[in-house]
Amino acid sequence: MKLMLHVAPGIVRHPLIASVILETQTLLNIERAKVDAVSGEIVLDVAPDKCRLVKEAFERRGVDVVLLEIPVIKDDDQCVHCGACVSICPTGTFKFDDWRVVVDSGKCIQCGACVAGCPHRALKLILK
Ligand code: SF4
Ligand code: SF4
Repeated sequence: MKLMLHVAPGIVRHPLIASVILETQTLLNIERAKVDAVSGEIVLDVAPDKCRLVKEAFERRGVDVVLLEIPVIKDDDQCVHCGACVSICPTGTFKFDDWRVVVDSGKCIQCGACVAGCPHRALKLILK
């Protein structure tokens, strides 16, 4: 499952991911990260049975954590199944199924590329 971390100024320079791995003994896969000297936005992939443990460990360190249950949605009334999103998405969230584009939103890391690239504005990120 995917967790979105919002790291505030003041704690962004702490070794947060390393300390959570050590505390929880859990492998974390960093799927996307945008971190600078003042803040950070990080998407992690975590085994479903470890999700709660990891989420709570980050929250104890002051990190705002969102579980990305449905990160992206497609408006089927607007979608014309052109396939642009299939080409754009770096994680394989979209695929053709019998000439229709279907979504496996569990793969989405909320990079936003498909939203900008959809010619019919049929895609939206669910931000919490
Ligand atoms: S790019 Fe937009 S219109 Fe084209 S298949 Fe994807 S969601 Fe549908
Ligand atoms: S935001 Fe769109 S392009 Fe980016 S990972 Fe999610 S579905 Fe793929």
